[in-house]
Amino acid sequence: MGAAVTEKGAILLGGNFAVDGPAERLVRVVTHAHSDHTRGLGFSVRRSVFVAATPATHRFLEILGQGIPPGKRLELPYDRPVELDRETLVLKPARHIAGSAQVLVETPEGHYGYTGDFKLPGTPPMKGLDVLVVDATYGSPQLERRWGEWDAISALIEIIERERARGPIWIYGYNGKLQEIIVELRRRGVEDDIFTDAQTLALARVASEFYGEPLRNVRLLTQDASWGIILVHYSKYNGYKRRPGVHVVLTGWELSAPARKVDNNVYRVSFSDHATFSEIIEYVEEARPSKVIVDSTRSKTAHLTAKYIERRLGIPAEPMP
Ligand SMILES: [Zn+2]
Repeated sequence: MGAAVTEKGAILLGGNFAVDGPAERLVRVVTHAHSDHTRGLGFSVRRSVFVAATPATHRFLEILGQGIPPGKRLELPYDRPVELDRETLVLKPARHIAGSAQVLVETPEGHYGYTGDFKLPGTPPMKGLDVLVVDATYGSPQLERRWGEWDAISALIEIIERERARGPIWIYGYNGKLQEIIVELRRRGVEDDIFTDAQTLALARVASEFYGEPLRNVRLLTQDASWGIILVHYSKYNGYKRRPGVHVVLTGWELSAPARKVDNNVYRVSFSDHATFSEIIEYVEEARPSKVIVDSTRSKTAHLTAKYIERRLGIPAEPMP
């Protein structure tokens, strides 16, 4: 049928492409460098002829120790089609992390697409597909956030302005999100010194180039950091949370308010990488595919999303696998 999702989380498009999971296909495509989208990459390097991704995603993979050998690396800028075995692959922009892409495959039998992780605005819907495979991380009305990410960034800046006198502001998040935060803070005129670990900094340099925003005063974190903004991977929270200063956890799962103070010096800020439920529906409504598959390997509520799409938009939809 031209598009499917396997138990291992590979999105199969056309006859030649396996996206974001391992499968015996000519080409493995990586939409972005988050670990739930790089599963089975070693298998794909061995068994596929090419691994395709945007230039920024290839650089992210290298920094994360998952670089693709030069002979197999296919670097595809956005909107540059490549034809392989009578099928055309195009990576389309997706707003999620630096380098993120949607995937479009055109075959003689039909046109198939996968959104990858995305948020709106900034992810132009792929229109008129025969089958659209959609990511639905927040795939239920119960998971709806009632504010935009702009509110969350404003809340974060308010915390920085109110608390910077108490010592460093520690900010914890995942790869991609941390780099976007650095760029967003700079765009909004926050000029505090920023310190990060080596990997976060290397990724930030790629993101800075990708977003076209200079980093300014971003330096390597040392033991005696006692001022400024310190951005580190979420996995370091338990190790650092007792240090002096104020600690801010960025999470997509804070659904009560854009920012919430949970302790004297701890905040949770609701900054998500993913479309809200209504943004998912908005995307599908604008794209108007003939059929929708909701990826259930990365969402616990794919069946609800599919049902909602069928009833509200009248488009046949199913969760898969
Ligand atoms: Zn992601």
